[in-house]
Amino acid sequence: MSVLDASAQTRQERLAEYVYYFASDSLRGRKAGTPYAEKARYYIVARYKEVGLKPFLNNDFVVPFSKEGVQFANVIGVVEGNSLKDEYIVLGAHFDHLGVKNGEVYPGADDNASGSAALIEIARELCANRDQLQRSVIIAAFDAEELGLYGSSAFAELLDATIGIDKVKLMMSVDMVGWYRQSGKLVMDGTATIRDGKKLVKSVAERHAINVRAKPFENSPITATDTEGFAERHVPTLAVTTGLKSPYHKPGDKPELIDYEGLDKVTGYLADLAETTASDPGFESSGKVAHKHGDKEPLFEGGIVMSAGGTSMRFPDARMKTFPSSSLNAGLMGRFNFGVAGLQFNVLYDRAKSFFPNLDSPLGTAQQYTQQAVTVPAYLLLRAGKGGNSAYVGAGGYYSYAFQHGFSEVDPVWNVNPHQGGMAAVFGFQLSPVLIEWSFRWQLSRLFTGQDNARLSYGSYITIGWVF
Ligand SMILES: [Zn+2]
Repeated sequence: MSVLDASAQTRQERLAEYVYYFASDSLRGRKAGTPYAEKARYYIVARYKEVGLKPFLNNDFVVPFSKEGVQFANVIGVVEGNSLKDEYIVLGAHFDHLGVKNGEVYPGADDNASGSAALIEIARELCANRDQLQRSVIIAAFDAEELGLYGSSAFAELLDATIGIDKVKLMMSVDMVGWYRQSGKLVMDGTATIRDGKKLVKSVAERHAINVRAKPFENSPITATDTEGFAERHVPTLAVTTGLKSPYHKPGDKPELIDYEGLDKVTGYLADLAETTASDPGFESSGKVAHKHGDKEPLFEGGIVMSAGGTSMRFPDARMKTFPSSSLNAGLMGRFNFGVAGLQFNVLYDRAKSFFPNLDSPLGTAQQYTQQAVTVPAYLLLRAGKGGNSAYVGAGGYYSYAFQHGFSEVDPVWNVNPHQGGMAAVFGFQLSPVLIEWSFRWQLSRLFTGQDNARLSYGSYITIGWVF
């Protein structure tokens, strides 16, 4: 059936037709900058006209931009609202994919023929219900996502320069939504950027009997989505996907694997959500953005940490060292961020153990030294990173107060000095909210008063933390 008979088809049939077209061999994987991406664009323009969208800002749906000297183009349409028509909801989906590699076509049916198809049908619903909309809705098919989110960032920039980005009340990116049945859920990342966002996406979901998983923020520093250019400008964003269950970035991402019933459900849901947000004058931002999109470092970050490592006792005079024994600490972390510099400190409950060699009888039972202390390391940091994600190295010192200590077998006559201290070093990285560190401590103060100048070494501590 031809798309000219669109009215005779069900929405699900139309969605399938679009996905099969985008993912067909004749489009050769829709690589940005090729004539095949251009072909996909013509197709989208034709569908935009058919569903009743209007061009945005000028007379053309095709909005070119260039990046690094190469020409690309987004396809942008708008459904005008009524009482709040100068405010906008942006719905975006990238249409480009990976093209052909080593003679093999990467069809990109889930990534992102599915989202591109959904976008067209969402636009159809919104045009049909135009009278209900207070705000306007921009429908944006993005080019060159796979090259580095070029289309969406160029468009966010264009919006900022023309209507002003504060007029954009919400941006939703629809990317890989064709595997609903297989994943069993539709994930919405970013509900905490909207006031009562979780409640909103859940209540609309009830009307469509769709299982929606609301996540407060996009946190993965590895995966990027078309929301980025908007989130960086403090626009509330939702990244919508059925997940990575499909053969992601593989030649096997084919149209026959798409769950069209699920895609239809997702489409109906998103159209309703867009309409709800466009119609509600009270809809607003929560004022929060994910750390990964934050342009400012928090001046102070705090968290909890837990570490495991080995402690040994060394006797510099005798040039010997005990075996490292398993030691633990746990407590609080605080850090001040000053650009590339930082100051980090911890307050830890610190339990150290060290096997003490039995000098008289090397084969006899080795006795063990145990110490419990409150330990406060402090480090000056050198940092690299953005938002809550960073890597750092630090050097500094520590102070320990040992409130309990003793030997497992014979207690030597030596007295433990409870005030201890030395040098400390740390290497860590933080992918908010998780923190991972390696740290070392090297005691300079004498462990025992009036005896051989034994010291403790805390080596290779591995820390996991949670930053609030
Ligand atoms: Zn994608």
